[in-house]
Amino acid sequence: MRILIIEDESGIADFLREGLEEECFAVDVAHNGREGLSMALINEYDLLIVDWLLPGLSGVEVCRQFRKEHAQVPVIFLTAKGDLDDVIFGLESGANDYMKKPFAFEELLARIRVQLRLSGSETVMMQAGGVEMNLAAHRVTCNGKDVSLTPKEFALLEYLLRNRGSVCTRSRIIEHVWDIHFDADTSVIDVYVNFLRKKLDGAGCGALIETVRGVGYVIRGE
Ligand code: CA
Repeated sequence: MRILIIEDESGIADFLREGLEEECFAVDVAHNGREGLSMALINEYDLLIVDWLLPGLSGVEVCRQFRKEHAQVPVIFLTAKGDLDDVIFGLESGANDYMKKPFAFEELLARIRVQLRLSGSETVMMQAGGVEMNLAAHRVTCNGKDVSLTPKEFALLEYLLRNRGSVCTRSRIIEHVWDIHFDADTSVIDVYVNFLRKKLDGAGCGALIETVRGVGYVIRGE
């Protein structure tokens, strides 16, 4: 799952990026409204976090213009303004939810998960071929045995499981699992798939991820 943060206060942006990366999200950051809008329109994000007061283009304007192109991607506003009219204005411009600064990271994370669930992106449990992934508990088991994964391995398995039954091309995997600083060398995906297969194999589920030669990877089965 890939999230774009548009926030000009670098302390807040860094704090959010670090927290969300620990939760296995791929995260990009833009520090002004115009840069944020163009990143939001070029890349594929699963959710946007947009500050209200931004240099260049306001968060409201970013949200309005983004909504013209993407009706479904959830947007959460960050605002220091407490005025009810401002909150209503933000929601009317197309945001799905808002957080008033200062806020607890855990609350934002809970709201992110609610929005992803409402948009159909977030499910709590996924399973295929003996592998079970519990997103809320950050836990993966193979035939009932715990498997310890790094954040990137977890995110990769999550993406493949979400799309089970469909072949995931390397470029789609890059779009959703890696952030914008990734150097686009797709062979890194093959390396991570191998790491993942070895760990799953150790627990008896090594055949879960199939290679589709020249295209990408797929998890089949129920
Ligand atoms: Ca700001």
